[in-house]
Amino acid sequence: MRPEKEDSALTRLANLAGRAVLLTADGGIDVEKGSDGLFAADPQALYDRWDEFRMWAAAPEPGVTGYFEVHEGQLLAPAPSPRQVFGIGLNYSDHAAETDQQLSERVAIFTKFPTCITGGFTEVLLPEGNVDWEVELVVVMGRRAHKLAEWEAWSHVAGVTVGQDLSERILQQAAGMQYCLAKSYPGFGPMGPWLVTPDELTAPDDLALSCSVNGEVVQASRTSKMVFGVPRLVEELSRVVPLLPGDVIFTGTPAGVGVARRPPRFLQPGDVVESRIEGIGSIRNRMIAG
Ligand code: ZN
Repeated sequence: MRPEKEDSALTRLANLAGRAVLLTADGGIDVEKGSDGLFAADPQALYDRWDEFRMWAAAPEPGVTGYFEVHEGQLLAPAPSPRQVFGIGLNYSDHAAETDQQLSERVAIFTKFPTCITGGFTEVLLPEGNVDWEVELVVVMGRRAHKLAEWEAWSHVAGVTVGQDLSERILQQAAGMQYCLAKSYPGFGPMGPWLVTPDELTAPDDLALSCSVNGEVVQASRTSKMVFGVPRLVEELSRVVPLLPGDVIFTGTPAGVGVARRPPRFLQPGDVVESRIEGIGSIRNRMIAG
């Protein structure tokens, strides 16, 4: 379930150089200055008071700094320092098939450590190994969620954004399955360009998503093809772990990753990875030599 359309105004939250900025049709508004200090500048802190923030953001004041122009290339992650970051494995059947893996009846969950989070326009230092792309819808929680039912899930989500679950495939397969390390190098969790509230999307469970490398489209699918949709993911995770405001869920990637290509293809210094989701926007990260 999600909030009724008429209950909320358009809300796009961005992170401009570490300061929360509300994006409106008239321009950006600095949240701390526009709210006279009611809300802190730190974008991550807003999720702890998300309901209050949404009320303010429904009729925001520009404050002393007024409206200003925001260039998307300057934007950092909309949830830059979450307490918990989850990833979902094998959540599109075509991706399971291309990597010769069986779909499970249960959700496959791993963690990405929060220090991997970066903005949508940063350079990512390539570590040694085989670094691969995975475009994903990223969910940011707006309320504490413990033992939640599926129908309550969307109302506990602050918003969604575009993400890359960058993965180093050699370490990922080492010593059993080292997913949490292989997907947690610094810069391996780009997200952006901004947070879009679920009510702003006509069909939040059915969004086109794609990834291109140096302009060549390598992944293209729809989030409606997820094996387990966002409500089910929230339900399964929160059955065990209390999800905290500002926590982040990378919801899984469709087919087209580099490791499944014949021959396999991995990211090289200079490669530009562009990730796009319908109704949200796109991010571009350049890979550089580590
Ligand atoms: Zn992934």
